[in-house]
Amino acid sequence: MAELEGLEFGKSDFVLLDEVTMEQFMENLKLRFEKGRIYTYIGEVVVSVNPYRQMDIYGKDTIDAYRGRELYENPPHLYAVSDAAYKAMKRRAKDTCIVISGESGAGKTEASKYIMQYIAAITNPSQRVEVESVKNVLLKSNCVLEAFGNAKTNRNDNSSRFGKYMDINFNFNGEPTGGHINNYLLEKSRVVQQHDGERNFHSFYQLLRGGSDEMLESLHLQNDPAAYIYTKEGSLAKNTSSNDRSSHRAVMSALEVIGFSPEEINSIYQILASILLLGDVRFESDGESVQILGLEAVGHVSELTATEADSVCKSLLFRTVATGGGDVIEKGHSEQDACFGRDAFVKALYERLFGWIVSRINSVIEVKDYDPALHGKNTVIGVLDIYGFEIFDNNSFEQFCINYCNEKLQQLFIELILRQEQGEYQREGITWQHIDYFNNQIIVDLVEQPHKGIISILDEACLSVGKVTDTVCLESMGTKLAQHPHYTSRKVRTDQKHGLCVCKHFRIRHYAGDVTYSIEGFLDKNKDLLFQDFKRLMYNSANQVLKEMWPDGQLSITEVTKRPLTAATLFKNSIVALVDKLGCKEPYYVRCIKPNEMKSPVLFDDARCQHQVAYLGLMENVMVRRAGFAYRQHYARVLQRYKMTCEYTWPNHLMGSDREAVEAIVTQHGFQDDVAYGHTKLFVRTPRSLFTLEQERAAL
Ligand code: ATP
Ligand code: MG
Repeated sequence: MAELEGLEFGKSDFVLLDEVTMEQFMENLKLRFEKGRIYTYIGEVVVSVNPYRQMDIYGKDTIDAYRGRELYENPPHLYAVSDAAYKAMKRRAKDTCIVISGESGAGKTEASKYIMQYIAAITNPSQRVEVESVKNVLLKSNCVLEAFGNAKTNRNDNSSRFGKYMDINFNFNGEPTGGHINNYLLEKSRVVQQHDGERNFHSFYQLLRGGSDEMLESLHLQNDPAAYIYTKEGSLAKNTSSNDRSSHRAVMSALEVIGFSPEEINSIYQILASILLLGDVRFESDGESVQILGLEAVGHVSELTATEADSVCKSLLFRTVATGGGDVIEKGHSEQDACFGRDAFVKALYERLFGWIVSRINSVIEVKDYDPALHGKNTVIGVLDIYGFEIFDNNSFEQFCINYCNEKLQQLFIELILRQEQGEYQREGITWQHIDYFNNQIIVDLVEQPHKGIISILDEACLSVGKVTDTVCLESMGTKLAQHPHYTSRKVRTDQKHGLCVCKHFRIRHYAGDVTYSIEGFLDKNKDLLFQDFKRLMYNSANQVLKEMWPDGQLSITEVTKRPLTAATLFKNSIVALVDKLGCKEPYYVRCIKPNEMKSPVLFDDARCQHQVAYLGLMENVMVRRAGFAYRQHYARVLQRYKMTCEYTWPNHLMGSDREAVEAIVTQHGFQDDVAYGHTKLFVRTPRSLFTLEQERAAL
């Protein structure tokens, strides 16, 4: 706690603020950032501010300083919570998890990597080969997942465009034995389109800039991202070329270390190349039928995907449909439908490739032959690095899903923090007082409630037989949710140059603030339609890896289920499963804050930071922590630190037990009404009492 660092660095635990006001909170956060103290606690929660510069606080010496120590023995650090999570897991055989949250660019992924590195560094002291190999695969998997799942955005040069939850398994000795990765909602729309100034996924540029001449030739590619529609826009981004080249080497070697076979690696790059080439396929209509422009590219795609060129053409131009009478007919696409189909196909190709890479890594790190009778309980530390709350100028379906996910995690956060407090009080035999807090269940219900919630209404619109447009769906939402206190439908009329334009929006009052969503594209994204013809094409590929990614391609059009789960429902199900998984673990939290928009190591943008503090619920967190007892500490530790301030304990310990000695100290300083005595710990209600002790100690 604050005792470990001089006060010139501010308070190292927000619980120790004189008063819990936003002003004091921000003052402390800013002071610490300016003094290079990027971590601060709220109890056991770490608040982290992205330093935007290399800090000399992650080396071996620091790891040694934190290894096996308690939270309060060192200045706040990610390593301290990692150690706490590890100790709880090892000593009490508890499954634990570390939940990292914050907005894009706040430092979540970097934090998750430091946490993993710490755990890798403190385990397996005897260097057993099989354990080292598991650790190596876990660490190397980051490099591969970042290449395929991250991209340069306007907010972050290395932004994770997917959510990631990784379980690390340990045996009874506390050595890592394996793991499992879950990925959530990859932003696949990026494959076909990027915002101004942003790039496609790193993997494409790495291949085009880093692939050998021989490799590119065999893939029918040129070594220039500007030559392809999907990478052209992003090819202009600065300072990335040399990174792309060296990253390509790193990814190739990581793939090998993880255990991908040469054929598998080859298939991965063949798929990437096919996507780039498909992007350059154009369609032309003569009024009657649609033709492909760029047949050469189609030929290359058929070679790379081990399919027939005719079949590729057919899938791009026609769609098989089942008629009401049970017949199957082929229906030619319009030019627009052909483009839509092609884009849906490449997005799905990339998404399935990513999913396959994750499952392939999982097959390597999955714990095999673990017999609890023989080896003791297999315990887990989970690390969650997932997108934070997003409010953009234009918010769409993706932001809706991401913000819903954050509502769920916020609910879990409140519940678990309170539950944890309650648990500690019960263990220590101290009476628990009820604390009021904003329960965001009402917003979660607004989104996910069966029949009534937004997802249900969207699904209904997507699955209805007639053609329901985005706006019709919005009207239905407006009617059904008119009374909801957190929902408003908005019709905005703007006079634009070309006449009257009606934009349709709806607004959700999220716990983190109001977000206005534009309904445009919601239904298409939710339906996530991919013509069965493409699935069949891939399933019929002679390339086993590709075939494996498309098991649903074996269904004929008449067997295809008419009511597939929508994107929103699939996402909701995966988040519900995630929350269940986290809910039964002992949680540790890292709350990341982005200090400014310029990636500057010296700028602390007060307004931006305050906004994040507000929506991360950090003030409530401090209040919850202080409403009960702000500070709790084992008797032996209290005695050790303050024994010199009391005549009964210094120079000689005249009392019986440590607890009695601490009682003597407390009574001598006159704050017995401000404490409670637990079975093993002293609980102090207000920080003022502690400061009295600290001052006494300093004065000696
Ligand atoms: P996104 O949601 O977009 O994935 P993120 O929260 O995962 O964002 P990171 O990619 O972890 O953000 O961090 C963004 C950048 O900030 C990093 O690439 C790095 O330059 C810098 N950064 C973050 N944390 C640290 C740190 N602890 N030390 C030094 N630099 C850091
Ligand atoms: Mg990230």
